[in-house]
Amino acid sequence: MPNAQASEQSMPEQQVSARARPNPRRPKRGTYRPQQETLSLLKVSGNSINGLGETAERQASPFFWHPPTQHPYEELQNLARRNSRKCPGSAEIFMAAYTHPELISVGKTRSVATASEFTADATAFALMHEADAVGIAPMNSRYVFEGYTIEEPWVIILALGPDYEKLKEVPSDETNGIGVCAIGEQYARGTRSSYALANWIRSQGYTANAYPGPSASALLLIPPAIDSGLGELGKHGSLISRQFGAGLRLAGVTTEMPLIPTAPDRFGADEFCTTCQLCTRACPPGAIAEQKQMVRGVERWYVDFDKCIPYFAEAASCGICIAECPWTRPDARPKLLATMAQRMDWAPQIPTPEPKKADVPSSPHPEVQSGRR
Ligand code: SF4
Ligand code: SF4
Repeated sequence: MPNAQASEQSMPEQQVSARARPNPRRPKRGTYRPQQETLSLLKVSGNSINGLGETAERQASPFFWHPPTQHPYEELQNLARRNSRKCPGSAEIFMAAYTHPELISVGKTRSVATASEFTADATAFALMHEADAVGIAPMNSRYVFEGYTIEEPWVIILALGPDYEKLKEVPSDETNGIGVCAIGEQYARGTRSSYALANWIRSQGYTANAYPGPSASALLLIPPAIDSGLGELGKHGSLISRQFGAGLRLAGVTTEMPLIPTAPDRFGADEFCTTCQLCTRACPPGAIAEQKQMVRGVERWYVDFDKCIPYFAEAASCGICIAECPWTRPDARPKLLATMAQRMDWAPQIPTPEPKKADVPSSPHPEVQSGRR
């Protein structure tokens, strides 16, 4: 049910309150307690590593889903992976997400075209190779994890849309792997799409590198995704897209190919989150802060790592907050867009021309941490 404040937003009641059948894998509200063995693996507060409460801007530190030599959560990460892979079909699907072709050598002859033509060609190539949406942003130090270097001046973000009917089955377990498998399929598409695009760019004589999830590496993905118009940051720490809602998975390609950036897009998701509490209430460990927090010098929505990650690890990557977000529901999204456009006096299909500074994400969600969220 929408909370009182959400109701005051005059959203049609059914728009945000329709409920699927009860999901037997979700704990009743307020009943979840992490297992002691899980808590014992949380040796250092992830909120400190994330920079919660820090007022100075800085690069994000390597974190969950980075190589375990770069953070103190190796055992917790292994537990999360084991519990995810126990779900029927999950191991094979995630194997596909980690399988990619070799990058080819950069062509000796450079194709000649305008930045506008290259942008159109690269976008069309990505859309023909499994990406659902494409954003382009000039490289920024905020997009790069501390300790890494990326030389290429452009980042292309590929968005892979969710299958809502499967996503709402989360969390997964040994009896039902539909939700986590759907997420794995998105990652596999992102891996294939990003490597295909990087190799196409290389064939044109320009350097390109691929940064797909779920493993994390040098590139954060959500900040350039926001800056390039793929969505806004939601209270649950995931991207909310006007086209796909929450639940997008992201992959990145960095390149020196001359490109034209795509514009940020504001359609009211951030404003809607200020009064909606659906994800806050649905989160079993109560990890989603109701108000924005100061994180590395930016006031932003924040998910408490120390509360989220034990449940995330025990419940096969969870995903409840994303599935419960009303923007994720295909039937609700058009009405939400129209309502927010009316409220903000924005046309629903016209992106705001003003650039929006991306919040620096630091949520424990896997897509965030792979430079993805
Ligand atoms: S993924 Fe984390 S924040 Fe989202 S519902 Fe699950 S435990 Fe809560
Ligand atoms: S992220 Fe989604 S569920 Fe959470 S407050 Fe925002 S709109 Fe509501």
